[in-house]
Amino acid sequence: MVDNKSIENVIILGTGPAGLSAALYAARADLNPLVLTGTDLGGQAALTDRIENYPGFPQGVGGGELAELFQKNAERFGARVVYETATGVDFSKPPYMVMTCDKEYLTKTVIITTGASPRKLNIPGEIKFRGRGVSYCATCDGWFFKDKKVAVVGGGDSALEEGLFLTRFASSVNIIHRRDELRAGTLLQKKARENPKIHFIWNSIIEEIKGSDSVKSLSIKNIITNEEIVLDVDGLFIFIGHLPNSQIFKKYLELDDKGYLMVDQRMHTKIPGVFAAGEVADSLYRQVITSAGMGAAAGIEATRYLENLEK
Ligand code: NAP
Repeated sequence: MVDNKSIENVIILGTGPAGLSAALYAARADLNPLVLTGTDLGGQAALTDRIENYPGFPQGVGGGELAELFQKNAERFGARVVYETATGVDFSKPPYMVMTCDKEYLTKTVIITTGASPRKLNIPGEIKFRGRGVSYCATCDGWFFKDKKVAVVGGGDSALEEGLFLTRFASSVNIIHRRDELRAGTLLQKKARENPKIHFIWNSIIEEIKGSDSVKSLSIKNIITNEEIVLDVDGLFIFIGHLPNSQIFKKYLELDDKGYLMVDQRMHTKIPGVFAAGEVADSLYRQVITSAGMGAAAGIEATRYLENLEK
């Protein structure tokens, strides 16, 4: 039901680094922003064990801890964080509407920071064994694999970083990559190659995840030689990139060919008063610091937009 009593100044969708930075800037401009958390409080950053490239933390900082600090900082200046998820929007005319399961909010501006979700392999066994050996989050599930054998799929920063994290628990970590060259940064590559628990399986794809109650093995094919092997593992961690959470906006906003929301350099979408920031609108950098920067810019732009409306 529409809450007709009030039209919000700004509604921010998402509580990752972009959303909470937008909230901080909007709150400090006295806009009393309303932040809907979505399903992943703190965004993907909150699921990262240790963030070592966010300035100001020379020893690194836990992802969950950084997310909490972001939230406290925004709340200190008046941001209101509510545990709700946007299920739809109506951007056909202002004031814009944001729907959740049981509410409809009206607002003068919206900042979309809905982030991205892990890409799936779409192979047999992936759905069946999800939560029973198949995982997309080492920080969440690594502990369950103490002294067990796990595999990681992917060759980017996430695969290596999470693979290294898993060596704390697992007896061995096989990283399966479809090429013989990693996409990950050189520092992570060095750390992974030097870790005695990590082994690489190159030029290979997983064709099937097998097991009974939980994962027992992977059918793996070398795409150069066509050789097929069975690897016995207790778990598979999938880190093959992300897909932007942009689907509920596609009726109104422009998406690029990969589904990212299109914004100009000031975070404006094509609809006046609707902004987007962070990973939902960034296929290039996808770092905590770049998302936070985009969020801050969106908060400033929403403030300017509202000032112009009043004029
Ligand atoms: P990514 O860089 O897009 O890497 C995805 C990896 O998965 C690639 O190696 C890709 O192989 C592989 N892949 C994609 N689809 C696949 C499929 N269907 N089957 C098998 N393999 C597949 O994603 P990411 O590692 O999640 O990183 C995302 C962004 O976050 C990047 O910008 C990264 O720098 C950043 N990040 C940074 C840090 C850090 O700075 N410490 C940590 C984590 C993430 P190809 O290489 O063959 O394409």
